[in-house]
Amino acid sequence: MLIDQIYELLSQEISQAEFDRYIKQLQYDEEGSRSDMALFYAPNPLIARWVKTRYGAKLAHLFEIKTGIKPQIMIEIKSAVSQKRAHTAIETAQKPTAKSTILNPSYTFDSFVVGSSNQFAYTAALRVAEKPGEQYNPLFIYGGAGLGKTHLLHAIGNFNLARGKQVIFTSLEQFMNQFTHHLRNHTMDRFRDKFRNCDILLLDDIQFLSRKEETQKELFHTFNELHGAGKQIVMTSDQHPKKIAGLEERLRSRFEWGLIADIQPPELETKIAIIKKKCELNGIQLDNDIVNYIAAHMGNNIREIEGIIIQLNAFANMMNQTITLDFAKNVIKNQLKERSENITIDDIVKVVSKELNVKPSEIKSKNRARKIVEARRIVIYLARTLTPNSMPSLAQYFGMKDHTAVSHAMKKINEMLDKDETFKAKIEELQHKISAQSLD
Ligand code: ADP
Ligand code: MG
Repeated sequence: MLIDQIYELLSQEISQAEFDRYIKQLQYDEEGSRSDMALFYAPNPLIARWVKTRYGAKLAHLFEIKTGIKPQIMIEIKSAVSQKRAHTAIETAQKPTAKSTILNPSYTFDSFVVGSSNQFAYTAALRVAEKPGEQYNPLFIYGGAGLGKTHLLHAIGNFNLARGKQVIFTSLEQFMNQFTHHLRNHTMDRFRDKFRNCDILLLDDIQFLSRKEETQKELFHTFNELHGAGKQIVMTSDQHPKKIAGLEERLRSRFEWGLIADIQPPELETKIAIIKKKCELNGIQLDNDIVNYIAAHMGNNIREIEGIIIQLNAFANMMNQTITLDFAKNVIKNQLKERSENITIDDIVKVVSKELNVKPSEIKSKNRARKIVEARRIVIYLARTLTPNSMPSLAQYFGMKDHTAVSHAMKKINEMLDKDETFKAKIEELQHKISAQSLD
C-alpha cells in the first residue's frame, strides 16, 4: 500500500522513538484521501497539531516522491470522523448542508483564553458570531503565527453551526485548489453554488492570495455576492490587508470595509493562563514552576507551546514518571536547539525579501543599491545568529571573495542595533517570523 511505502521512507528520516510515539498513533484514511489531499486521523487535537507542524511538510514531500503530486496533509481528530465523511461527500453533493465544513470542535470561545493581547479580536469575533452579517462585515483578523486566529475562526463557525447556520470554513489554499479543480473540470457552477450559498464564509490565511490573480477575481465576485446578500465573511491573515503584496486594490478596499482586528503576542500572564487551560483540557498535570518555566522560555507561538506540553506528557507516560522541572528544562532545551538547526539561509532570505520588499535574487546578487545592501546585511546577520553557518560558508553562499565582507556586514548591523531601537525591534520581529516559518 502507498501509505506503507510513505511510512517506510519517513522512518528513515525520523528517529524510531518519534515514529513510534507520534506516527503510529495516526490512522490513514485511504478512502477519504485524494491525490491532492491525504487524510489522517489522530487520537486527540494535540497529536494532530503536533504531527501536522512537525511532519506535515515531510509527509507531503514523501507523497510527492511516490505519486508525483504533493497533497495537502489533513489531520482530523478521531471524534470528528463522521463529520469528515460528510465533508468529503460535498464534492458530489449539489448543495452544502450544515455539516459541510471541517471545524475543530475543541476550538470554541470557551476554550479561548482572553488577555489584553487578543481581547479586541476575541470580542469582535464573538460579536460577529452572535450577529453574523449585521455589524462588522467583513471581519478581518490578523496577527503572527500560532496566536489563535484559526481558533477564533473555528469558534465563530462552531457557534453558528450549533444554531443551524450554513457555515463554510476554508483555507485560502483549499479555496484556490478547489477553484482550479472546478475550473479544469468545467464545473464552476458547483464551486459557485457552494461558496455563494452560505450564511458565513470563514477564510483562513488569506495572505496566500498574494499575486494569485485568477483566484482574487473569483473571490472578488464571491465576496460581492455574499456581502450583498448580508452574509457574513470573516478572514484571517498574518498581516494587515495593506501589507499583503500583490493584492488587487478593489479586494483590499473591501477587506477594509468592516472591522480589522489584530492579535498581538500574548503577555506572560496570558501565556500562563493558556498553558493551564491546555493542560486542563487535555488532562495533563503540570506544577506551577513548570508552567512558568515554559511560559518564560518558549516564544509566543502557542502552537509550539502546545507541542512542548504534549511532548512532555508523552515522555512522562512512556517512562512512567512524573514531570519534574529538570525534565521539562531538558525537553525544552532540545526543542529549541532542534528548531535552530532546522533554519536554513534560504528560509531567512525568503522572509527578509518578503518583509523588506526586495527580490531573493537581488539579495544574492552583487547589486549595490542601498536597500538591497541593507537586506543582504540583515540576512547575513540573521544567518549568523540563527543558523550554524560559519563566516566562510556564508561568504560562499553570497559568492563573496572571503569572510571579511561577512564580518563587515555583521559590524554594520551591530552598530545599527546599538543605536536604533526601531531597527532592533524590526530585527527581532524578523527573527520571530523566521523561526515560525521554519516550523511550517
Ligand atoms: P494561528 O491561526 O494564529 O496561527 P491557531 O489558531 O492555529 O493560530 O492557534 C495555535 C494553537 O494555539 C491552537 O491550538 C489554539 O487553540 C492555541 N491558542 C492560541 N491562542 C489561544 C488562546 N488565547 N487560548 C487558547 N488557545 C489558544
Ligand atoms: Mg492559522
